[in-house]
Amino acid sequence: MMLDLLACPPAMDSGQPEGARRSAPRDRTPVRARAGRVSLVGAGPGDPELLTLRAARRIAEADAIVYDHLVGEGILDLARPTAKLVYAGKEAGRHALPQGQINQLLIELAHQGLDVVRLKGGDPFVFGRGGEEMQQLVAQGIECDVVPGVTSAAGMAAATGIPLTHRDHAQTVSFATGHLKDGTVDLDWASLARPNHTVVIYMGLGALEIICRELVAHGLPAETPAAVVHAATTPAQHIVTGPLGVLPGRVREAGLKSPSLIVVGTVVDLHAVLMPQGAAAER
Ligand code: SAH
Repeated sequence: MMLDLLACPPAMDSGQPEGARRSAPRDRTPVRARAGRVSLVGAGPGDPELLTLRAARRIAEADAIVYDHLVGEGILDLARPTAKLVYAGKEAGRHALPQGQINQLLIELAHQGLDVVRLKGGDPFVFGRGGEEMQQLVAQGIECDVVPGVTSAAGMAAATGIPLTHRDHAQTVSFATGHLKDGTVDLDWASLARPNHTVVIYMGLGALEIICRELVAHGLPAETPAAVVHAATTPAQHIVTGPLGVLPGRVREAGLKSPSLIVVGTVVDLHAVLMPQGAAAER
């Protein structure tokens, strides 16, 4: 059904009768090599049904697709059989291209006149280095555009029944990166540890203990509800909940791996209300 939606619109009618079109003299003006284009496309949080129609169309029409490991299963099946697929990686233990090489590859493919899709998990402009890649492409004069995707925080919220804002719980929400730099996380803790606020931390699993400790040290009660959600929106989704003070121990016990999001705030209490069957199964 999806492919029906993706079918290309019929070519515009030239207004000429069939025969006239066939016998028309061939245009002899020299054809300039077509310039390629790069689309930075968000693949959403994992479930292929969460792709936008534009993302699905770009993937189906691409000559080349450079994709990350967070791109959900089944999404590449939309590509043409002849499309060149390049894995750009970023997964521990699996060969991955360094960022400079990815930029170079995109530039080279576009210079070959190809329609290139740079396919990323979630949204390209949310912790996806989409901005950095686009800067390089723009600097080279390469035509490019961005197709937004459902960022994993939004996918996780829908799939777990944890609204990111709620009038009784949180009027603001922050997205932060918990990526470790020199063994520590460099965040503005005071601005995150606020009441009536939800914090979603991407790439934070390795620093979960530090994150929970710092949020408490900067004023959040140790009883503040929190959760770690692995592989949200996919069949492998797994959620572990607990107050800030005990969450790291529970997550360690459960052996959660990347990709995982950390969500902190009283909105987490709504998980048991909005998804009672799921919450009961986790206990
Ligand atoms: N551009 C992406 C984020 C890339 S950073 C987006 O908009 O979602 C990679 C991090 O995203 C992972 O470490 C993890 O924290 C998070 N992530 C991506 N997909 C996820 C998923 N399905 N479930 C949980 N976390 C996910």
